[in-house]
Amino acid sequence: MVACISSEETEGFVLLSKNAPKREGSGVSSPIRAPRGVKDIIPPDAIRFEKILKETEEILALGGFQKILLPLFESAALFSRSIGGATDIVEKEMYTFSDKGGDLFALRPEGTASLLRAAIEHRLADPGKIVRLSYAGPMFRHERPQAGRLRQFHQIGAEILGPLTPSDDVDLIALIHRMAEAFSIPSWTLLLNNMGCPACRPVYRETLVGYLKQHEKDLCETCRHRTDVNPLRVLDCKTPSCQAVLETAPKITDSLCDRSRAHFGQVREELEGLGIPYTLSHRLVRGLDYYTETTFEFVSDALGAQSTWAAGGRYDGLCQELGGPDIPGFGFAAGIERLWLLREKAGTLPVSPSPPLWLTVFPLIPEARPSALRLVRQMRNLSVPSAGFFGSGKIKSAFRQAERDASRFLAFIGEDELAAGTVQVKNLETGEQTSYALKECSRIAEDIRNAVLSA
Ligand SMILES: [Zn+2]
Ligand SMILES: [Zn+2]
Repeated sequence: MVACISSEETEGFVLLSKNAPKREGSGVSSPIRAPRGVKDIIPPDAIRFEKILKETEEILALGGFQKILLPLFESAALFSRSIGGATDIVEKEMYTFSDKGGDLFALRPEGTASLLRAAIEHRLADPGKIVRLSYAGPMFRHERPQAGRLRQFHQIGAEILGPLTPSDDVDLIALIHRMAEAFSIPSWTLLLNNMGCPACRPVYRETLVGYLKQHEKDLCETCRHRTDVNPLRVLDCKTPSCQAVLETAPKITDSLCDRSRAHFGQVREELEGLGIPYTLSHRLVRGLDYYTETTFEFVSDALGAQSTWAAGGRYDGLCQELGGPDIPGFGFAAGIERLWLLREKAGTLPVSPSPPLWLTVFPLIPEARPSALRLVRQMRNLSVPSAGFFGSGKIKSAFRQAERDASRFLAFIGEDELAAGTVQVKNLETGEQTSYALKECSRIAEDIRNAVLSA
């Protein structure tokens, strides 16, 4: 969004243009590259990317989820209130900026907070009814570049809001399980935990802090700091010394109140009933403050280190925290880039699309240009992807351009064709050449379509 700011007249973004690359010497500017951690998705990958997204959306649609389109930026306060002020996302990774009015905004680092904000604002969430919503799009986090993570990445997610039961948790997990099966995600595991509720989590928090204080000298610096501000996040630490301490740390599932224990028990029992295997992971706390009760991650080790491709959980207090009614919620998000890599590994990437151009039309002489333009237009009207090559008088260049465009046919109109009202159409794969009357558009289109689609 910042990329379109180009001149110094744009108050508030003056700093940006001051930092723009300087012209060097003879008026040649150095090229501007994409920001670090931001990736262009170029053809033909872009079409594949959209297909992956679409196929995932179709599975969510099977579960009754309706799509909602959300803005890319929100008030920064939305995320500090929902995700939590003492989380890595809010403390270090959010892209924030002030606009001309001095209001503080943030590029969205995740989708749940935005979706909840919209559901409250448009009164979609109602304590008495269940609503299912899904979203997809880019998310932004200022991750450390050495981690190899993208700073603009893509997620698809779904949230169910309303008077939920533990069965609703299971039902949505089952829908993600459907994705794992439909896309043949290799060697996946479902990690499951229960984070307790506002009644029992403080009890666990205290037990954990007591334990961590005892082992303070073995914790990394970050975790020593976290012990005071967000002790549950210590459970996430990958540092070997912390790992050793965490091996014997008290488990949250041992501190659950009766209600949370019943919730957890029902979720486990019903997952087993559906034949969905899971692994208990008592250190699975997720990096966000808003989770309560069920949390889960679908991971895979097919890409080397174990990586999460879908994750989520229950967030019963979040709606109220954001100023809405007291409505429970359960949701998840999946990483599109991860799904891509895993599906590539499994050989289930969507098939590559048919060639972008089916027909290149080339006027051999300037007088044939109007006929060529007309033919291109008629072919497009008949749904044959077509483009003209008007530039050079040499047929060699036309062949080269057709090849570059992966075009399957080359049509040309020279002096003789123009006089006779015909066009020569060459199948570039078989070398076969056919003469048509220029007015036989439907026949030309049909022959081309049959050849392309039967390939
Ligand atoms: Zn509880
Ligand atoms: Zn640590």
